[in-house]
Amino acid sequence: MPQISHTWSTQSIAQVVKEYWGFGTLREHQERAIRAGLDGRDSLVVMPTGGGKSLCYQVPPLLLERAAIVVSPLISLMKDQVDGLNACGYPAAALNSTLDRVMQDEIEEQFLRGELRLLFLAPERLLTSRTLALLKEAHVTSFAIDEAHCISHWGHDFRPEYRRLAEIRSYFPKASLHAFTATATQRVQHDIVEQLGLRDAVLLVGRCDRPNLTYRVVPRTDVQKQTLDVIRRHDNQAMIIYCLSRKDTERLAHWLCTQGVDARAYHAGMDATKRRRVQEAFSTERLDIVVATVAFGMGIDRSDVRCVVHATMPKSVEHYQQETGRAGRDGLDAECVLLYTGADGAKWRSLLTQSARREALDLGYDEPDEGGYSPGDPRAALELQFEHLRDMEGFASAAVCRHKSLSEYFGQAYEPGEERGGSPCGRKGCGACDVCLDEITYMEGGTVIAQKILSCVARVEQRFGAAHVADVLVGRNSERIRQFRHDQLSTHGLMKDTPKAAVRQYIEQLIAQRLIVRDEGEYPTLRLGNEAWAVLKGEQEVRLIEVARTRPRRQQQESIALEGAEQELFEVLRTLQRAIARERGVPPFMVLNHASLIDMAMVRPGTLEGMFGITGIGRAKHRSFGRAFFEAIDAFCEEHNMTRSNEPSTQYA
Ligand code: ADP
Ligand code: ZN
Repeated sequence: MPQISHTWSTQSIAQVVKEYWGFGTLREHQERAIRAGLDGRDSLVVMPTGGGKSLCYQVPPLLLERAAIVVSPLISLMKDQVDGLNACGYPAAALNSTLDRVMQDEIEEQFLRGELRLLFLAPERLLTSRTLALLKEAHVTSFAIDEAHCISHWGHDFRPEYRRLAEIRSYFPKASLHAFTATATQRVQHDIVEQLGLRDAVLLVGRCDRPNLTYRVVPRTDVQKQTLDVIRRHDNQAMIIYCLSRKDTERLAHWLCTQGVDARAYHAGMDATKRRRVQEAFSTERLDIVVATVAFGMGIDRSDVRCVVHATMPKSVEHYQQETGRAGRDGLDAECVLLYTGADGAKWRSLLTQSARREALDLGYDEPDEGGYSPGDPRAALELQFEHLRDMEGFASAAVCRHKSLSEYFGQAYEPGEERGGSPCGRKGCGACDVCLDEITYMEGGTVIAQKILSCVARVEQRFGAAHVADVLVGRNSERIRQFRHDQLSTHGLMKDTPKAAVRQYIEQLIAQRLIVRDEGEYPTLRLGNEAWAVLKGEQEVRLIEVARTRPRRQQQESIALEGAEQELFEVLRTLQRAIARERGVPPFMVLNHASLIDMAMVRPGTLEGMFGITGIGRAKHRSFGRAFFEAIDAFCEEHNMTRSNEPSTQYA
């Protein structure tokens, strides 16, 4: 149990939080994390995306009246963070390479004059002699390290420049270090503590579960049509669709446009101007659908993303958690759909192998000898990457509650329903995944289908790949089939009434169940797994997920709990929010976010002072926008004969 600071009352912390951010309550762990900062005690805070980590390092400098340093790898995000803080009246700045010399000097001087409370720096910048001298001169006593998992090579986003952060300890032996991350397994948590040399650290691990997300894993048969189906469920809502390759993003975005959907591609291969334009259109809410590689998202702070689709399986559960984490950051319901086939794993294995080999050659490593790879050889890390991949495949192919699997992966027990208040509506399990919503249909006669496929793999002598086996089963009469005389096999045409894409899916499911093993190589071939013979002899049953009929039961998501006139008022306020944002040239969420708009539509303050009770409206925002929104509410209520409240609001978020 960490020591509780008595110097700062809960009330004084709450007051600052209301004053600057307009929040009426603190979330789980926030107060203890803030106290660690106030006491100058090292800490490691693990909280999911959207959990509210930033507040933990933003509050202490205000109360202590001295600046802290924030180390973040994401230069593109710094500007938004600083702008957002400044909009709340919080004195913060970032020093990075995007600023010219004059601006940098100006910020350094402000910092030395003690006018700033937070200074954002990238890790490589922090460790330059110029910056170190600056921080020494200012007697910095506190460092917040954001995205701290980047220091661990066990994590999913290891960054060599993070390793050097261990040096902070030697330059500033008396300063306290505060590490923050959204996704860290226990192994990564230990590694962070060790690498940074945290001393007697307060460890605060929040629930990694995101109860407002509904997870679905759907066998992929037709990526275009399936994506379009999902889009149709989210009319006029923000969505991110992740693809594996740059080409995939362009192809899918283009096809969606031909279907009348306004979707744009985004990937690192596009030129910077084009990229910025897409990013800006998305964050200013002029564009709702982006089809992107994982390059998209790091700098995106749009909190009303209602759906994240993975057109291909990501390469680790950590990546999946991080990317799906961009949905529903406003705490409202959102959906995550993973389109998956067993072929995704094979694709990743080959990509990872190729890129490790290329890197190894670039670095001048030889082909490995008997003893394996030399230390530092990128190929030595492949086994670990494959382990991450196997975990991800396990998640995708098991029919186990998704919330439960994710929580357990990150080392936390999960009690279904608990987070939704004990599931009072009698929902089964978590009530928010395809498994618990009973959307997965097992087909009748799965064992017979499995036998047909397994015997075909045997008939082609375990020397062919999935595409060929499927061709034989559906009775294709191609040159290649005839060449090997596979049209003569008893299994030729055995599944001629099943679409080939479905047959491929069943093969992938059998691979996931290890009844078939795919041997990797330039031309991956299928062979029978150990238990396949038991199935062929009828001694073992097989369950296969019905491919065609796997459809979400809950078609329309209720994303916002507003009805009738309140919903209309919300739309009016949203239009105003966007207009103000346009006028000021900032993204709409920087004016006020959705949680505030919803709170306003429900509470409808009857006095200007009452606007201060709305979540997300602190002193500065009240001054800047309070009156405009108040008047809009006033006019709307007048016209629609709606009641107003004079009570302080109950917090929404
Ligand atoms: P993280 O860095 O953990 O991903 P953020 O710090 O960006 O999360 O916070 C996510 C969202 O939650 C932001 O919109 C923030 O304003 C909001 N938030 C944080 N703390 C609170 C709180 N105590 N009450 C209401 N909203 C909060
Ligand atoms: Zn579930």
